[in-house]
Amino acid sequence: MAPSPDASPAQSVPQRRSVALLAATFIVLVCLSMLVMQLWQAMRTRDIQLAEAEASATNLAHAVAQHAYDTLKQADTILVGLVERLEKDGLPTDDPTRLRQLLISHVNELPQMHALFVIGPDGGWLLNSRSNSTAGQDSADREYYLYHRDHRDRGAHIGPPILGRVSGAWVVTVSRRLDRPDGSFAGVVMASIDMHYFSRYYQRFAIGRSGAIFVALDNGVMLVRRPFEEKSLGRDISRLPLFRDYLPRAPAGTSTFTSGQDGVTRINSYRRVQQYPLVVSAALSQSEMLSGWRADAWLHAVAVATLTLGLALLGMRLLKQIRLRAEAEGELLTARHALESLNRTLAALAMQDGLTGLANRRHFDAALQEEFSRAVRNASPLALIMIDVDCFKQYNDIYGHAAGDACLRAIGKVVAQGKHRPGDLTARYGGEELAVLLPGTDVAGAVAVGENIRLAIELLELTHAGCPGGRVTVSVGVEAFVPATRDRRPLDLVEAADKALYQAKAGGRNRVCARSEVLEQCA
Ligand code: GH3
Ligand code: MG
Ligand code: MG
Repeated sequence: MAPSPDASPAQSVPQRRSVALLAATFIVLVCLSMLVMQLWQAMRTRDIQLAEAEASATNLAHAVAQHAYDTLKQADTILVGLVERLEKDGLPTDDPTRLRQLLISHVNELPQMHALFVIGPDGGWLLNSRSNSTAGQDSADREYYLYHRDHRDRGAHIGPPILGRVSGAWVVTVSRRLDRPDGSFAGVVMASIDMHYFSRYYQRFAIGRSGAIFVALDNGVMLVRRPFEEKSLGRDISRLPLFRDYLPRAPAGTSTFTSGQDGVTRINSYRRVQQYPLVVSAALSQSEMLSGWRADAWLHAVAVATLTLGLALLGMRLLKQIRLRAEAEGELLTARHALESLNRTLAALAMQDGLTGLANRRHFDAALQEEFSRAVRNASPLALIMIDVDCFKQYNDIYGHAAGDACLRAIGKVVAQGKHRPGDLTARYGGEELAVLLPGTDVAGAVAVGENIRLAIELLELTHAGCPGGRVTVSVGVEAFVPATRDRRPLDLVEAADKALYQAKAGGRNRVCARSEVLEQCA
């Protein structure tokens, strides 16, 4: 069923309200999901970046450990050869030239090698690759000499960093004990390794401004470090969490912690060097590792925030439009209802007689046409009662027009009350003439109705000094026929009723006269 013209716009306002609510929810959800997605993506990228930084630190520690191992192993291999030779051939006494040439050629072979020393049991230098003169020089106070003198251990020993007495350069020492055939202490062979060899290697890595690399003895003595700091060489760092907490648990690992010294949070990767009592550590600043991510995240955040803001503004504008439209439609609807009500009133007024409130002549004519057609279709009778006030001219003359109007109103009221069926129509035909249209009523019925009306008006007992009875009376003409049985027009019914009315007048007024095919009489 098609909606009535009233229902459609009336439903559209709440519909628009729910559309506005849906639109608002949608916009809020889109904005929120954009922000949440951005946040989630930023956190995920950060995690990836940190994982990559951890991998970099681990690789770096691995490379540094391998480098330390290779460097020391090469030097140690030379020491092993020297120990074997010296223990077999004995310590050089008279002509050390050939052996010294061997030491020099070994030092020249390896770029990391700073010097090679052969030290006697009393600590005095027997051979030195850097200088011909060894007289009066000794290492009796050096840690590596004291170590080998006091330990029967035949393995390689790595000592703390020392300042070379000949070169004045910082070196790391690797040394081995020489034994006499009886196992007593015969001296020490020592290779010193240039500290700058390590530093140069460490310079190749991009570790940022706050990154750090170091190699230390596993007892916590610092050997070499980037950034290079002379005062930190040989320092005891055994109290760092690396030595205290991590190394006892695992030989290698990665952890993130904040430095107690400079407050920088670093990703630290450490590992023991195989075969040697060394530990290496590579640390990368977390903040520096995340700097690229941070710039990207800011850029994305600004872009997403701008987009979200734009979307929110657009959404608000859209919502405002929807609301304004709903309001305009509401106002339009109210105006339409008012207009329709006005039109109905105007239409009713256009069909109503202003004085009596009965149907006017236009309404009567239309109703007559309609009822006449219906009577033809249904082959039913149609009756018309014409009522004319008697001597009304005199009434006006005697009592005035205002009283005449009041009299007409009173008569109209009585006539209106006289109609019984819903289809009956009471109209003011013109002047002081009224008409009652009675569909489906034959002449007898219409005469009865007319007589009732006549009587009721008479019983009103409205004084009329100009009328023979002294009261206001009406004359009534009635006509009724079945239009289908005779070739008649609506006007014929009016004319016939009018004629009957004329008869009533002519018959002396205050009476009912009828003209019809079944009855022609005056009551
Ligand atoms: P009759 O008995 O033959 O009908 O005599 P009458 O005086 O009624 O004659 P007629 O029908 O010719 O006169 C109608 C009078 O009704 C004329 C006019 O002054 C008066 N009249 C018509 N319309 C109105 C009205 O709206 N108000 C008033 N007060 N008088 C009206
Ligand atoms: Mg008249
Ligand atoms: Mg009259």
